Amino acid sequence: MKTIKKLFCLLTIMCLVFACAACGSSSDDTLVMGTNAAFPPYEFVDDDGNIVGIDAEIAQAVADKLGKKLEIKDMEFDSLLTAVQSGSIDFALAGMTVDEERKLTVDFSDTYATGVQVIIVPENSAIATVDDLTGKKIGVQAGTTGDIYCTDDYGQDMVKQFNNGALAVAALKNGQVDCVVIDNEPAKNFVKANEGLKILDTEYAVEDYAAAISKENKELQEDFNKALNELKEEGKIQEIIDKYITAE
Ligand code: GLN
Repeated sequence: MKTIKKLFCLLTIMCLVFACAACGSSSDDTLVMGTNAAFPPYEFVDDDGNIVGIDAEIAQAVADKLGKKLEIKDMEFDSLLTAVQSGSIDFALAGMTVDEERKLTVDFSDTYATGVQVIIVPENSAIATVDDLTGKKIGVQAGTTGDIYCTDDYGQDMVKQFNNGALAVAALKNGQVDCVVIDNEPAKNFVKANEGLKILDTEYAVEDYAAAISKENKELQEDFNKALNELKEEGKIQEIIDKYITAE
């Protein structure tokens, strides 16, 4: 009788172990990245409907190194941090600036690129430098550093938030705002795609991009950094950046 009980116990334990291993692997073999795919060349939707760009390729290279599949979820930029915190995504890779306030809610990976907040104006605009922004209506993407800095510097009344850069640029074209403050690489893309706009030479802010990872997931942060740094050493990150950004 005792032996039967023992055997039964053993079987139950084995079943549990297998069940756990199975449930672990279905979520453990995939890394879920969140992004806002309206931020070329870091992330955008190509003609086939795929999310591509620098961040998508870096994430794929990191996932490959970690032996995992990659799934990309597209969402509003200002939902990304909550999604990281709630665990509905494993990390956000979205041309996201490392920022002290954001560090209160999420951790950041090592940085992989530099961003510059620039000012887009109509070609005939009287705005020539950052100093001319006082009293002007400024278009920004909601929740971005451009939004945060402009709201701090010029007050909420002067800042109009849009869900993404393309919408802010459309508002600039039809005169709803006098300028748009946004990251330099997307700015170049938007100016190229829209006639009659230019980027001012003056830089509003220089910043670093990194992946946002949950404070609860130190293991992923470590793995991510290890993979990222290997990719940097191998020249892979630069290769991906060069594929999308041609030096002037
Ligand atoms: N770098 C900016 C930020 O982190 C904008 C990022 C974005 O719009 N994807 O706020």
